[in-house]
Amino acid sequence: MITDIAEKVYAGERLALDDARRLYAHHNLAELGMLAHWVRLQKHPDSVVTYNVGRNINYTNVCWVKCDFCAFYRPPGSSEGYVLPNEQIFAKIDELVAFGGDEPKSCEILMQGGLNPKLRLDYYEQLLSAIRDRYPQVQLHCLSATEIIYIAHLSRLPLDETIRRLRDAGLDSIPGAGAEILNDEVRDIIGFRKDRTEEWLEVHRVAHALGMPTTATMMYGHVETVEHRLEHLDRLRQLQDERGGFTAFITWNFQPDHTDLGADESRWNGAKATGYDHLRTVAVARLFLDNIPSLQASWVTQGPKIAQVSLRYGINDFGSTMLEENVVSAAGTSHTNEMGLDAMERLIRDAGFAPRRRNTRYEPVASPCRIDALQEAVHS
Ligand code: SF4
Repeated sequence: MITDIAEKVYAGERLALDDARRLYAHHNLAELGMLAHWVRLQKHPDSVVTYNVGRNINYTNVCWVKCDFCAFYRPPGSSEGYVLPNEQIFAKIDELVAFGGDEPKSCEILMQGGLNPKLRLDYYEQLLSAIRDRYPQVQLHCLSATEIIYIAHLSRLPLDETIRRLRDAGLDSIPGAGAEILNDEVRDIIGFRKDRTEEWLEVHRVAHALGMPTTATMMYGHVETVEHRLEHLDRLRQLQDERGGFTAFITWNFQPDHTDLGADESRWNGAKATGYDHLRTVAVARLFLDNIPSLQASWVTQGPKIAQVSLRYGINDFGSTMLEENVVSAAGTSHTNEMGLDAMERLIRDAGFAPRRRNTRYEPVASPCRIDALQEAVHS
């Protein structure tokens, strides 16, 4: 029975960790969904589901960290390693703005890569400022906490100065990638060279103090327990209480194909998280993270159908149109071919909501997308 928890939710009271623990153990998924959707409607009363016009750009796949859950990286010296030339990055952005239009900061570039020992702060400053000067339409939502920590380390600069310099060069906001599970025992198993829990949190804390919005993520379904997931959500909620700089939370499950961790079933849970687990996780997150305004669907890993159903489990945003995605697809999962703008809007409408375009700051964008222009840009 979760009647007492439901009463807390309807009264607008904050849930305790033990409440979240009981919700996780509650097997009536529909009841969890009803509660989570109720909270979603308090935060976003309009029958609207938002989405963002965006593109992932993975500027380098060279990375010395070699996380066991990652299929994207190539170690330094690999013949398959790359750093994209600026012209190639610009060509990708040309395609995005041809599609997304000219409204300032209306299109999002999610630019992330590996920890490449050859790239110093000046590389990032030059790249970011070149994009900012050339594309006023683009919001630079770039560089995970892990990358920023490494850039600071290579440049022998304090974290706040590194983020300030990146911001001055054009960085608008920081994506939540690299959080995985915010527990060092888990991080030791899945990526022991990666930044520690406190380090990941500190990057976001410093960004928020500088007035820079960020997002928060969780990758579940590998070696962690439900307790680890709850601890993760609790750490995010505590940090959000400080300054409120997280705009959104996004969760997805581990994609095992082509990863070292996935290759050894004795080292992880052994099977991908189910749709039930995903919806339960999303609903509990919506109920527990009472101070994070938006929850994004994860259609890249869950596929369009579970993503659509999640709109009734606390999700209010469909995420990015993602014209390009390399990281999850390297691990064998890709739904990007199934998800044109028409398909995304249809899924949203069919679930009983009106689709509405937004920017990275969750402000409405009036300009329509230009699907014909995109086709011309891609085929020219
Ligand atoms: S997850 Fe990031 S840090 Fe880890 S190996 Fe992959 S690219 Fe490198």
